[in-house]
Amino acid sequence: MEQTDTLICITCPMGCSLAVVHEGQTVIQVTGNHCNRGPRYAQAELSDPRRMVATTVKVRGGSKRLLPVYTAAPFPKSRIFELLAVLRNLEVEAPVRADQVVLANALGTGIDVLASRDLS
Ligand code: SF4
Repeated sequence: MEQTDTLICITCPMGCSLAVVHEGQTVIQVTGNHCNRGPRYAQAELSDPRRMVATTVKVRGGSKRLLPVYTAAPFPKSRIFELLAVLRNLEVEAPVRADQVVLANALGTGIDVLASRDLS
């Protein structure tokens, strides 16, 4: 059965309000987008919503106690709380280089978690 939902496209700062007509996970029509990335965002949001994740992890032996980290690619939205729970218990050893992998293949997704900065 066709259904219409409103989504805010977060692909760029324009933040277009998309009216998305869909049947289950299949997009039938999108209006309100200012470029063709809007319909792609709508389809991804319905079938496999993902978000970049940025947080901190504990550091052992460093000049600071927390290291900012981020996912190397958008992470499945439904598993973000699970990822944050793993990262809460993770402790990395200083020194750390920016973009160093601190958690490889997080939750078996193939997505690494990387250090946002150097920390010695
Ligand atoms: S539809 Fe295009 S212009 Fe609008 S927010 Fe998405 S990416 Fe930006």
